[in-house]
Amino acid sequence: MAGKRDYYEVLGVEKGASDAEIKKAYRKLAKQYHPDMNPGDKTAEAKFKEINEAYEVLSDAQKRAQYDQFGHAATDGSGFGGFGGFGGFGDFDFGGFSDIFETFFGGGGFSSRSTRSGRGPQRGADIRQTIEISFEEAAFGVQKEITVNRMEICSTCNGTGSKPGHQPSTCHQCNGTGQVQYKQRTPFGQFVNIRTCDVCHGEGKIITQPCESCGGKGRVRKHSKLVVTIPAGIGDGQTISARGEGEPGTRGGPSGDLFLSIRVKPHPIFKRDGYDIFCEIPITFVQAALGAEIEVPTLDGKEKISIPEGTQTGTVFKLKGKGIPILRGTGRGTQHVKINVEVPKKLNEKQKEVLRQFAELLGDEVHEQRKSFFDKMRDALGM
Ligand SMILES: [Zn+2]
Ligand SMILES: [Zn+2]
Repeated sequence: MAGKRDYYEVLGVEKGASDAEIKKAYRKLAKQYHPDMNPGDKTAEAKFKEINEAYEVLSDAQKRAQYDQFGHAATDGSGFGGFGGFGGFGDFDFGGFSDIFETFFGGGGFSSRSTRSGRGPQRGADIRQTIEISFEEAAFGVQKEITVNRMEICSTCNGTGSKPGHQPSTCHQCNGTGQVQYKQRTPFGQFVNIRTCDVCHGEGKIITQPCESCGGKGRVRKHSKLVVTIPAGIGDGQTISARGEGEPGTRGGPSGDLFLSIRVKPHPIFKRDGYDIFCEIPITFVQAALGAEIEVPTLDGKEKISIPEGTQTGTVFKLKGKGIPILRGTGRGTQHVKINVEVPKKLNEKQKEVLRQFAELLGDEVHEQRKSFFDKMRDALGM
């Protein structure tokens, strides 16, 4: 503690200064060197500490008297029993100064709420899950039973946390308020702080006979079964929500929500784009040439459609109203049926011979595309 400046000198007052003069001098200097006013300035910080240390002693009649008598030796802590609690000034907590600062400049009374924590009603957390459904279920909607792993009110104690027949007792420390006020002496005067009661953790009540099912928590983790309605027309990747089916809230807060992300399994025949569906139907070369009535799968079962003679591969037929129902609307999309003409393979000798004879019967006139192609080629290339 060598080289310490005299406390009166630090505050810039006379030895015989009155309490009011000391206070006035201190306030002026504290403002000037407050860390918030001098961010990052180590000199100001040291100065601020020094000012506070001086004021701590000079504002207290007993400490001031000892200081006047013994000088800095009185604050060294060694051999001066009366100064027992005064040794820790080097660890002065700067974290608390912003509160002091607010009080200083914000006017108002000497009351700080800095340590008050959010102990009011809290909304429960949301739960997110994925559910897989079939193509048809997505199209027409479905009710599904799902399992949700969440906290639920304990059925043994109805959420009170106490053994049946027992009541929680009011917390003796906070008288049921969940908060305690405590006074803090600082160089600026006395602060009243409010903090969460550490006996009841802000609940205001203490469970003396805890429920055996939930250990006094009032809630238990459960796999709950839930039936959800998935609307017709829902698509892969869309999300539906069930209000209030998430984790329960605390202290009377509302429950969170449940969000279900929809996965639609692919279909072996249909592809989907928006509310339209697409499929490809293979037909024979003969059906294509002669025309035919063919069966087409739809979401509503098989449907007969007529293929006119001379249908080319790749031709698309549209079935209006056979697509996916519009989500939360009316009507349905379109089913697109694409025709694939299958060329026969692995023909036997007899079949080939018939085809050769058939080919001789055909001229270019019956193959419009081929004819126009060769006409164009002849014109362009002279071949
Ligand atoms: Zn219980
Ligand atoms: Zn309490």
